[in-house]
Amino acid sequence: MTPTAASLTNETAAARARAVIPGGVNSPVRAFGSVGGTPLSIVAAEGATVTDVTGREYVDLVASWGPALLGHAHPRVVEAVREAATRGLSFGASTPGETELAELVADRLDLHGVRGLERLRLVSTGTEATMTAIRLARGATGRDVIIKFAGHYHGHSDGLLAESGSGVATLGLPGSAGVPAPVAGLTLVLPYNDRDAVRDAFAAHPGRIAAIIAEGAGANAGVLAPEAGFNDFLVRTARENGALFILDEVLTGFRVHPAGWWGLERERGARYVPDLYTFGKVIGGGMPLAGLGGRAELMEMLAPLGPVYQAGTLSGNPLAVAAGIETLRLSDAAVYAHVDSASARVASALTEALAAAGVAHTLSFAGSLFSVAFRDAPVRDYADAKDQDAWRYGPFFHAMLQHGVSLPPSVFEAWFLTAAHDDAALSRIEEALPYAARAAASA
Ligand code: PMP
Repeated sequence: MTPTAASLTNETAAARARAVIPGGVNSPVRAFGSVGGTPLSIVAAEGATVTDVTGREYVDLVASWGPALLGHAHPRVVEAVREAATRGLSFGASTPGETELAELVADRLDLHGVRGLERLRLVSTGTEATMTAIRLARGATGRDVIIKFAGHYHGHSDGLLAESGSGVATLGLPGSAGVPAPVAGLTLVLPYNDRDAVRDAFAAHPGRIAAIIAEGAGANAGVLAPEAGFNDFLVRTARENGALFILDEVLTGFRVHPAGWWGLERERGARYVPDLYTFGKVIGGGMPLAGLGGRAELMEMLAPLGPVYQAGTLSGNPLAVAAGIETLRLSDAAVYAHVDSASARVASALTEALAAAGVAHTLSFAGSLFSVAFRDAPVRDYADAKDQDAWRYGPFFHAMLQHGVSLPPSVFEAWFLTAAHDDAALSRIEEALPYAARAAASA
């Protein structure tokens, strides 16, 4: 029986969902597994807020896990999608829009005379983007082994789940059942920011490593930013050993800087250019859209020009492309400046509230992304991220929710600010934080 609107609660919505959807969710972290309690069932989102089935509104710091850089349902993005929809939902053919989006991305990655990216292939999810980038790196090098870093998340393709971040970290899993051992065995998982580990891996597997994949800045086991020079070191080491470097910007791309983490690091003096980039989230403005890009000579190894196969019925979907184009067009310098300052304001209120409540904590930053860890010492790698009083996060999270602020339901996730977090939204967060800090203190 369908409950009437009046009788809907998050509890009834979740119970009904669990009867037909595994765990009641279509992506594991949504189940509130690590914070406990009943997941919110969301019916609408606008600007800086989301609304649950009971009609209650929350200031949102999830931002759909990153895409909503402009805030939810920006009227011009919605209008672009509506207008595209009137012309057809999917053609399974090339469109002028996808070329325009690729040009916009290539322009953004053209920095001070360095052309970071020459070709872009659109797909529908970040998982597809990284999976394809790995296949391309293997096809281009004729090698099988890849290096990833513990706590970095690159989607859920078989070879990339080992010691992964995001839901895999939230659930405390080493990887996933169902991944054949020979596939998992082709992934070397190394501690992040550890140059010796990288050198040792190349020494131990001469001529076998196809690529290193790293998040721009890790943001899926809390924020794990690369130490200054680490990405330069990775690219240099990869090149010296005939391997490629894939920068996974699914989360950081177009969020932390107009040219993503790569752009932000170049402004801080980094000199590397990745062989391949992967994008997702902001590039689709909230619609299912992602991509991979890089040098022409490498990207043109993809079918139909080259031998590495990749395809997608909905790839470059016209509605998703319309949302992506409008989102990138609207994300000007003022948007990035606002997100930076909103983020700094929330981070400082957070640390002030936790300090006042006497809760040991450290904040990790990567541009406008930040996360909290309940420990004294800074977080440099995944082992550090796991070594914290993670149980404090559940009470902290629920106190924020009670005070009308929706946080990511895991301590291993970054907090996402948007251009729509205005003074009123930020004040509501600041008012809620002291309650949450006290709840964390007494946990
Ligand atoms: N890479 C990174 C860095 C991510 O953060 C994510 C998703 N959080 C992915 C890949 C996978 O993207 P998707 O969920 O769209 O498959």
